[in-house]
Amino acid sequence: MIARLCIIGVGLIGGSLARALKAAGAVGEVVGYGRHAEQLQLARELGVIDRGETDIAVALKDADVVVMAVPVGAMEGVLRAMAPHLSAESIVTDVGSTKGSVVAAAQRAFGVVPPRFVPGHPIAGTEQSGVEASFAELYHKRRVILTPLAHTDAAAVATVRALWLAAGAEVVEMDVQHHDEVLAATSHLPHVLAYTLVDTLARMEEHTEIFRYAAGGFRDFTRIASSDPRMWHDICLANRDAILKVMDRYAADLAAVRSAIERGDGAALLGTFGRAKQARDEFKQ
Ligand code: NAP
Repeated sequence: MIARLCIIGVGLIGGSLARALKAAGAVGEVVGYGRHAEQLQLARELGVIDRGETDIAVALKDADVVVMAVPVGAMEGVLRAMAPHLSAESIVTDVGSTKGSVVAAAQRAFGVVPPRFVPGHPIAGTEQSGVEASFAELYHKRRVILTPLAHTDAAAVATVRALWLAAGAEVVEMDVQHHDEVLAATSHLPHVLAYTLVDTLARMEEHTEIFRYAAGGFRDFTRIASSDPRMWHDICLANRDAILKVMDRYAADLAAVRSAIERGDGAALLGTFGRAKQARDEFKQ
């Protein structure tokens, strides 16, 4: 039971966590911090938070756990604003989609990453944003990755783990760099591909025709191109090296498929498509 939880950035991810913990009876008071009083008022009316604050010092006061749920590009500014007001007793975690950038931001803001800061990332979301899109079941049976550092306080990690378990999630731990490489491949690259494909087709002269006849495959492949462009801009810049590495690899494989089509090399195409089908069929989620 967390007596006072502070959510910094009450949008889809922060709002859904607040809702889940309230539904589980795992929190006392939920305080929301944001830049816009009217958004906080909406979050209150929706029952997501109990109190909204636009003054970060007031929002952090006596918080047992603080969850940073702002875009990754906003993390450093928020951490710097928090630094003078954060009690050494408060446990801090975040939900950012990249971990190396957030840890580096905490290091710059505090001088040293606070031992009670537990970096985290729920592998759950939708292409919607904002508190209106939040729902209590978002984390049910979804994975949350925690990336504690060598000096992170074990009791703080245990509290953050318990918080996500109460929200219905499964919790795993990995190191920061490994997280960023895995997520570059499984999440960041697919978003880059979906955005680029839709943009390429949308800029073709006959785009109305293309979209009119777009079938289920197009819909499945490109749903995530409706995600918040600003959020993905932040993620691409924050996880640049890992994304470039996996993009280069993908570009080489795409070039090989292009060459196989050009050469009429059916065996090469069957090799690629067959391996992919087997791998996709084995992947159950
Ligand atoms: P969201 O719905 O747009 O919510 C972001 C919240 O942060 C809003 O309440 C926004 O409120 C606030 N905010 C933005 N900039 C701020 C700043 N400079 N200072 C204070 N508050 C600020 O976005 P989200 O989808 O919940 O994403 C939040 C975080 O979760 C991101 O770090 C993202 O990488 C991560 N994440 C997202 C997903 C997903 O699928 N969406 C999945 C896993 C992790 P105002 O603009 O009103 O201030």
